[in-house]
Amino acid sequence: MDMNQIIIDARKHGRAALDEQSGKALLAGYGVAVPRTAVVSGAAGVDAALKQLKTPVVVKIMSPDILHKSDAGGVKVNLASAAEAMAAIDAMAASPKIKGARIDGYLIEEMAPAGQEIVVGGLRDAQFGPLVMVGLGGIFVEVLADVSFRICPISRLDAQEMLDELKGAPILKGARGRKAVSRDAIVDVLLKVGGENGLLMRHAAEIREADINPLIVSETAAMAVDARFILG
Ligand code: ADP
Ligand code: MG
Repeated sequence: MDMNQIIIDARKHGRAALDEQSGKALLAGYGVAVPRTAVVSGAAGVDAALKQLKTPVVVKIMSPDILHKSDAGGVKVNLASAAEAMAAIDAMAASPKIKGARIDGYLIEEMAPAGQEIVVGGLRDAQFGPLVMVGLGGIFVEVLADVSFRICPISRLDAQEMLDELKGAPILKGARGRKAVSRDAIVDVLLKVGGENGLLMRHAAEIREADINPLIVSETAAMAVDARFILG
């Protein structure tokens, strides 16, 4: 797939950001693992979609008007059957926060293997160009602002140092009875996003902001389950 085409298509439709499906396609083009997905326009499409996907699945609203899907009631995880996925779509379509929005469709995707949620991001600095960021998910990023940044392109050593700098780094090693998660898998994603031939370098002129939130990291692998790219 031509990675530039994904961005050109979004622009052609007047979009200021890539939709989640396109964002994931872009990531996949750089070798970042993403869930298998299908897009449906309503509950009627679920049966066909589930022929290509393994349950349990997640259903998510796709709307250019909705930034935080869960806040709007637009994410339902762990749906075991077509009936559950259809019910989730019908409930979303009827919910007040979603009713007034432009709806592109519903994303149905496979569940990622369980793991620690972390955040990988990118932004463009007027002086330094693209920067890449990593942090632990949830409260670590939102409340504690425990994140580390580097100017792109980063080396493997830079990526390792970024992880070492996090105050929450022991969590990745399996603090408090949790399993350790794969540091190598995180470093790998950081290089694919912020390395020499990475996504942020290659699209420095077009991508203003990138947000993989979360990347779910297991003992052996990492998968990007949400992706947002702001163009401009
Ligand atoms: P938003 O950030 O817009 O609210 P997300 O796509 O990040 O929506 O989904 C919200 C949460 O649902 C994620 O942080 C994650 O915990 C869970 N989730 C979403 N997609 C998946 C998936 N494919 N596999 C497992 N968990 C998921
Ligand atoms: Mg998210």
